[in-house]
Amino acid sequence: MNYVVVDRGDQLSQELAQRFHTLAAENGLKRDEETPEMVISIGGDGTLLQAFHTHVERVSEVAFIGVHTGHLGFFADWQADELDELVKMMANNEPRIVRYPIAQIELDTDTGLTTHFALNEFTLKGVDNTLVAQIDINDELFEMFRGDGIVVSTPSGSTAYNKSVGGAVIHPSIESLQIAEIASINNRVYRTLGSSVVLPQHHHCDIISRKEQRLQLSFDHLNITRNDIRSIRCSVAGHKICFARYRPFTFWNRVREAFLGYEVK
Ligand code: NAP
Repeated sequence: MNYVVVDRGDQLSQELAQRFHTLAAENGLKRDEETPEMVISIGGDGTLLQAFHTHVERVSEVAFIGVHTGHLGFFADWQADELDELVKMMANNEPRIVRYPIAQIELDTDTGLTTHFALNEFTLKGVDNTLVAQIDINDELFEMFRGDGIVVSTPSGSTAYNKSVGGAVIHPSIESLQIAEIASINNRVYRTLGSSVVLPQHHHCDIISRKEQRLQLSFDHLNITRNDIRSIRCSVAGHKICFARYRPFTFWNRVREAFLGYEVK
């Protein structure tokens, strides 16, 4: 089996990456930067987002494994002192492959159409003023938004930015996207539902900016600014991210431990 390591860049993560390479060589695993089968992320959930975007072109051909250097992560289930066990598992056992939905975002701009993917969420905000946008669901007007921004999250991202703006936590086996508002202004002209909306896999939403405005677009941790956006289509991508599991790592245990502080046995 061949693999690549993406680390957070801090001293501990770099040392763990070196240790992983040593253990991997001893156990017959091959380092391969170009066409790995396994991507090992060492750091936190943010590091796994980075690993996802580095390998986004081959995302359904690789399986991700997260090693965390701090608190238990939503994507990172192995701890720093478990590297030996992880490498032995990788060398000797077949993992269970778990597939989670990702978001597809198609931008229509003055220079053409581009497609982007997000593991956690796509976020849209105004740069100079509040964001003004029409939101259509399945090609029909749904609402006129004015406010700080819109977060369109995957189930995996429902515990991230989405949760901070009052969105629901969604199990990643539910193929869906959640649209959540950030500080919407409601009056006679601009009126929004006020609660987040969950779209099933076969639905899509279009965000159409209604005046020339500079917009900040974020795909997970990656930000760009543009002033030529005509419309943005968000849907559940046709392919998924794969995680390699060598032991159980249940979603509700992660939610309980991260937000309620109860020990997971
Ligand atoms: P960051 O600002 O350095 O970290 C954001 C925090 O979100 C970190 O504690 C990270 O965990 C955690 N996180 C990432 N994915 C998560 C998930 N799926 N569920 C629960 N927590 C998660 O930014 P970053 O490391 O570059 O990550 C970008 C992410 O930050 C975005 O995708 C967005 O979800 C999140 N964000 C949140 C807010 C907010 O809640 N107000 C605002 C902006 C962005 P680790 O410490 O393990 O990396």
